[in-house]
Amino acid sequence: MSAKPPILLAGNWKMNHGPKAAREFLQKLELPEKENAQARLYVPTLSLTSALAATLEHSLPLQVGAQNVHHEKSGAFTGEISGPMLSEIGINQVLIGHSERRQFFGETNESVLLKTKSALEQGFEVLLCIGELLSEREASKTEPVLREQLIRVLENQECKAHFGGRLHLAYEPVWAIGTGVVATPEQAQSAHAYVRSLLITALGQQKAQDTRILYGGSVTPTNFKELLSCPGIDGGLVGGASLKPESFRALWDLI
Ligand code: PEP
Repeated sequence: MSAKPPILLAGNWKMNHGPKAAREFLQKLELPEKENAQARLYVPTLSLTSALAATLEHSLPLQVGAQNVHHEKSGAFTGEISGPMLSEIGINQVLIGHSERRQFFGETNESVLLKTKSALEQGFEVLLCIGELLSEREASKTEPVLREQLIRVLENQECKAHFGGRLHLAYEPVWAIGTGVVATPEQAQSAHAYVRSLLITALGQQKAQDTRILYGGSVTPTNFKELLSCPGIDGGLVGGASLKPESFRALWDLI
């Protein structure tokens, strides 16, 4: 078996930090390189260019990614951005299926499949988000919901080939996102173990182990260490605590 993939600390700025704020954040951020970890920020579309430039200027060991991408390469899709546009400015990382995209912008498991397939085909690395609503957890439906969110991608031959390579996952219970209510280590670990078991069944041991499953939902420098110590949690996808250079750095120092 090959070594475990490095821990990933991924920030999701959501609709925060325009180009100027992005530049200022990265100017302030001091991020020493680590052998066993990678850092990434998913920034608003309009801030991608300035974030990339600042990352290079300050030689930060940090990848910059987009929060969304359309599945078509061009066409009559007002307000959307395409893969070729992202590639043109040097972006090769994209977040797909975040629960806010599902909740507020009508994304479905079907559209998430289309986006994932298209982004992978165009050479992007994809972090695909899944996670249950509170009502689903309370109705003991967490596992069927996670399965339903993953199954199309797991059964799609083109996507399947990229797990553990350019396709990784973030488990984000929706009730924990932006609420300050973090999943307990037991809840997170159990969901991760279930998702890993789906990967093992569909892809075999090796690819399943090579696929990172990040935890997301109210991660802070106070709870990150404990979450990271759980077997099967390969990093964090962090919203609120990624917005300040100090707290992003504090998370990095815990890896
Ligand atoms: C997120 O944006 O994916 C997220 C998990 O947000 P927060 O860390 O603020 O809960």
